[in-house]
Amino acid sequence: MPEAAGRIVVSMTYTHDHLTIRGHWIGGATVAGDGTTIDVISPVTGAPVASIPVGNADDLDRAVASARRALAGWAATSPADRGAVILRLSEELGARNEQIAQAVTAEIGAPIGFSRMGQAGFPALVTAAVASQAADFPWTEEVGNSLLVREPVGVIGAITPWNFPLQQVMTKIAPALLAGNTVVLKPADPAPLTAPILAAAAQAAGLPDGVLNVVYGSGPVVGEAMSAHPGIDMISFTGSTAAGKRISVAAAATVKRVGLELGGKTANIVLEGADIDAAVDATLMNIFSNSGQACGAWARLLVPAALHDDIVDRLVAGAAAYTLGDPNDEATRVGPVASEAQWERVNGYIERGIAEGATVAFGGPGRVAGFEAGAYIRPTIFANVEPHSTIAQEEIFGPVLSVIPYADDDEAVAIADGTVYGLTASVYGEQQHALAIAKRLHVGQVYINGADFNPLAPFGGYKQSGNGREMGHAGLEEFTEIKAIQL
Ligand code: NAP
Ligand code: MG
Repeated sequence: MPEAAGRIVVSMTYTHDHLTIRGHWIGGATVAGDGTTIDVISPVTGAPVASIPVGNADDLDRAVASARRALAGWAATSPADRGAVILRLSEELGARNEQIAQAVTAEIGAPIGFSRMGQAGFPALVTAAVASQAADFPWTEEVGNSLLVREPVGVIGAITPWNFPLQQVMTKIAPALLAGNTVVLKPADPAPLTAPILAAAAQAAGLPDGVLNVVYGSGPVVGEAMSAHPGIDMISFTGSTAAGKRISVAAAATVKRVGLELGGKTANIVLEGADIDAAVDATLMNIFSNSGQACGAWARLLVPAALHDDIVDRLVAGAAAYTLGDPNDEATRVGPVASEAQWERVNGYIERGIAEGATVAFGGPGRVAGFEAGAYIRPTIFANVEPHSTIAQEEIFGPVLSVIPYADDDEAVAIADGTVYGLTASVYGEQQHALAIAKRLHVGQVYINGADFNPLAPFGGYKQSGNGREMGHAGLEEFTEIKAIQL
């Protein structure tokens, strides 16, 4: 596989070379499965761009055995030594930026410019941030007459989604590895093409064989088997709330730890007196980037009722810049959604919004002229959306914005918190006022006035958005067991 990753993926673009991943990555080698394969389909052309092995329980057993064999040796290394390997891994990913960006553009149709930054650059950035934690994480601590020691949990099963395929992998495996765990990764079936690049980068960085293993395959087969596997000590999952619930059930019999990063329905609350143009620009960018396929996409915009029509006018004017295009074209800002299945799902929500009485201010349902072969959805803005309607409650995971008017602060907070989710939020307004609102919201992260992303801030959800955190000290802690030694 490192050979395939180095030689074939480099020249791959979404319309041209067909990549064949010849086996799972187990113990530092490519291990053939039973010969069953599945195609990875381009959402631009509908044609296959790659084929991958379809794993089964036997492949998983081999990978778990490999991870268990590697565990004692890796766990015995110092955090500083592991941090150094992870920093090198970040550099190796950085050196493969173009390869990673091309792979993600091929498999999910993310615009190439966005892929270089968001799909390829971010994973390298968060990996470097995790490496820096080797020096400042409290690996040991004294409390009264106790010595508290942080130890690895063991073998981690990582199950990841297709929307930010490498980013979601690195926010799990970088901290898991830094804490001294070994890993079996099952990447998302529709977007597996960065996994062999990661394997090659990890090997080049000096990660010992067997510390990271990859098994390709479906969630219901390999994912469920991982969740129930007695040789896996913890499942770290990012994906839908529905799959997260199934994983928790499958994991219960072995009492393994389950970390869940699930869906969201982010509200951006615009307060009176806010910088409206800044709020409008940021909203459009956050809901239309990656075709809205982000767990923290700003899917709801909550605005003072008196400002509703003016803000909708400004959104519509700004949205005109988000033209659809071929994702391999450098100028494209919005590509297709990731698959035909996604197209059906997102288009269905747009039709549902119309049926439930919301006003289409921009975009709308249906195939897009000139892009009929691909899974293209028009960036869509709904105005005057009722907060309890389906499009305002459920995660659409597409480029669809709902603008919701509110009367006062209490109503804004109630609407923002009024879904089953609680992942992220945003507030625009005078700083102290915005901070006061942020403190009232039941979400894991709040951005005020378009503040910067912080790779050392913990990320995760309240309520049905999840049960833990990734990144930061809180995220690293989840991949450790704590031992109290009384002296
Ligand atoms: P998904 O269908 O839940 O799949 C996520 C992963 O879980 C895939 O690898 C999938 O396998 C696997 N899976 C599916 N069913 C499973 C089962 N019964 N047991 C074990 N594994 C199973 O989600 P998706 O469609 O890929 O991604 C979109 C969802 O992810 C959205 O809801 C989004 O909000 C959420 N998400 C959350 C975050 C966060 O940090 N909170 C970040 C990104 C995305 P296959 O697909 O390969 O079969
Ligand atoms: Mg799926």
